[in-house]
Amino acid sequence: MSTEDKTLFCKIIDREIPADIVYEDDKCIVIKDINPKAKVHLLIIPKKPIPTLFELTPEDKDCMGHMMLLLPQLAQSQGLEGFKTQINTGESGGQEVFHIHIHLMGNK
Ligand code: 5GP
Repeated sequence: MSTEDKTLFCKIIDREIPADIVYEDDKCIVIKDINPKAKVHLLIIPKKPIPTLFELTPEDKDCMGHMMLLLPQLAQSQGLEGFKTQINTGESGGQEVFHIHIHLMGNK
């Protein structure tokens, strides 16, 4: 994929744009949001650049489940006792970056 076709988050995954990376494995990357709306604001991003929840297919079940299971672990590693999650979907759903991501937000 050429650089122009890549999503912002693919560029971060490929280290073409810097980001504060909190966690990474073969399925996803977790970064700090550049414009945090809580003391802890992480973005959990699949390495596969699925634009929105509308484009999910059954083959994405494992990856999406994997990211859900990561959420409480990430929250605990950040010292949170509770947290909010959000997935903005589509322009009218407030989505700005068209590469699925889960917001994890919490205050200590
Ligand atoms: P959305 O509105 O698509 O659900 O959320 C996109 C999020 O990505 C926003 O909270 C925004 O602050 C964050 N964001 C946008 N550009 C960058 C960037 O270059 N680096 C990081 N770390 N976060 C970004």
